[in-house]
Amino acid sequence: MDEQIRRQAEVHPIAGVTAERMAELAGPLGWGDACRLLKLDEAIAAVRQFDLFAGLDDAELAEVGKLAYECSWSPGVEFIHQGEEARNFCLLVEGQVALEMEVRLGPHSPPRRATVEFLNPGHALGWSSLVPPFIYTKSAMAVQRTRALCLDGQALRNLMQRCPRIGMLVMDKIAALIASRLEHQSNMLLYFLSIISHELRAPLAAVENYLQVILSGYTGPLTTDQQTMLERSVLRLEETSRLITGILDLARMQPEQIRQAFEPVDLHEVITEAVEDVQLGLKQKELALTLDVPQQLPPIIAAHGRLRQVLTNLLSNAIKFSPAGSQVWLVVRPCENKLRIEVTDQGMGIPRDELDRIFEAFYRTRGAAGTAGLGLGLSIVKRIVDAHQGRIWAESPYPSEGRGGSRFVVELPLNPQ
Ligand code: ADP
Repeated sequence: MDEQIRRQAEVHPIAGVTAERMAELAGPLGWGDACRLLKLDEAIAAVRQFDLFAGLDDAELAEVGKLAYECSWSPGVEFIHQGEEARNFCLLVEGQVALEMEVRLGPHSPPRRATVEFLNPGHALGWSSLVPPFIYTKSAMAVQRTRALCLDGQALRNLMQRCPRIGMLVMDKIAALIASRLEHQSNMLLYFLSIISHELRAPLAAVENYLQVILSGYTGPLTTDQQTMLERSVLRLEETSRLITGILDLARMQPEQIRQAFEPVDLHEVITEAVEDVQLGLKQKELALTLDVPQQLPPIIAAHGRLRQVLTNLLSNAIKFSPAGSQVWLVVRPCENKLRIEVTDQGMGIPRDELDRIFEAFYRTRGAAGTAGLGLGLSIVKRIVDAHQGRIWAESPYPSEGRGGSRFVVELPLNPQ
């Protein structure tokens, strides 16, 4: 038998995968210095090792085993490439794999490779082969000589559809795994954030203090040019500090954390505090704020400080994007089991096609370019409202009253779960 015929005839006893298919897998994807089919009992024993398939009976393990083959890679071989079609799901048997991602810090910097995680025996990779759009989100490189049990993602998906019990058991495991990884990732995020807040914020504040001392003339007289440059430096520092505070606020703002502060709140108190917060802005732009709030309001279960932040941010925006001398309204209406809060202004308004986007982090409308801001305030507001199981949206221009300007509407349930 010549080599070609021999390879075609060498078929996996059950899976029906030809040696040619194996070569195909091993070839263009750089799959394995060695790729080998497994005998069925070998495959079942290998699959049984993984927690992902715990709970499957022997017949079900055999179904999964039929799809399994084994690949190994030498150190340094990258066998999964970020951005490519995700075809394979792998369970590590031996060795170590580095997961790498291309990161780009800003639109003009060149992309860099960052190692985001190391995987060891027992870990799985290639999850993207199980979920649309079936594109690898990270690259994988063997750090040591590595051996893995591989399953064709499409074949595994078909099996889970054909045998719903297998699908349910595996999906259950995947969901638990994702939940624990998510928790791990958010703990890491909080850890990094606390480092950032100490390592960046503290020196910034110190530099700002020194500059203020110099500006006050304490260290000697300044020329006009020096004065101007130092004042600009202070402004840039303040902007950077605000950016850091905003990012930290946004990242730390977990719904559970907000809900921990839930208590019966008197909205009148919150409104008084928020109005105090924006008093200076109102005065500087000579804006008239009209409050239309009923005397009797039902108590609402909410996080007092966060609710104040919602009102302060919305009022600050109304002030910021309004012409001097115009009007701002704060209206509160109880309706059924909800409170409806509206902040309305006569300002520059929001283009219709940008109404939904303004709640995204860092999004600023075309018209906002000349106004100070980072585009974080509304995304923070939305997170707070979401944690209260409320709704927020913007209307602009609100046609019913025939004026320009914007209106932000917040609906909060009186008793969130
Ligand atoms: P920032 O105010 O710092 O830019 P926000 O997240 O609070 O960030 O707002 C995002 C964008 O939404 C603003 O840049 C602006 O384009 C638009 N916006 C928010 N409030 C108003 C408003 N009252 N009138 C007009 N545009 C607004």
